[in-house]
Amino acid sequence: MVVEKKIVIEKKENVKRIINPMNDIFFMKQAILEAEKAVEKNEVPIGAIIVCANRIIARGHNLTESLTDVTAHAEIQAITSASNFLNSKYLSDCILYVTLEPCFMCAGALFWSHISRIVYGCRDEKKGFSSYTPSILHPKTMLTEGILEDECSCLIRDFFKTKRSHNNSEY
Ligand SMILES: [Zn+2]
Repeated sequence: MVVEKKIVIEKKENVKRIINPMNDIFFMKQAILEAEKAVEKNEVPIGAIIVCANRIIARGHNLTESLTDVTAHAEIQAITSASNFLNSKYLSDCILYVTLEPCFMCAGALFWSHISRIVYGCRDEKKGFSSYTPSILHPKTMLTEGILEDECSCLIRDFFKTKRSHNNSEY
């Protein structure tokens, strides 16, 4: 009985460690910094980081234009980098922070990675996985949405606003 109790307490500690609102804000700010790197390259500003044991082990931002590659989403960059770092194809003890809701391609890749938790900033009404394949995530993956939601959605809104005004001024 004592052993069982200990296990319950340890599980609670794990959940506490994995869901910490202060950490979520700190790490989402890091993902936003990644998204800002994408703006500098004239890429749609989406940034992602992967955290393991409270440490950032991978960073990525959208590179679809620079690499002429539709699969070069921020999450894919971060997953590849984290797997290289850990020398493991599974990211079971890791948390992904991404500024925008993953698309279904990235949600599929995250399924294969067995990642323990996904935290995203703002919803992607048009291309987010929850509109198409809400059950695609791995059963063990926890999901949190809406961390620094306004900052994350402003990034994308401002990017397209600036792009439109530049396009208009060309004519
Ligand atoms: Zn994606």
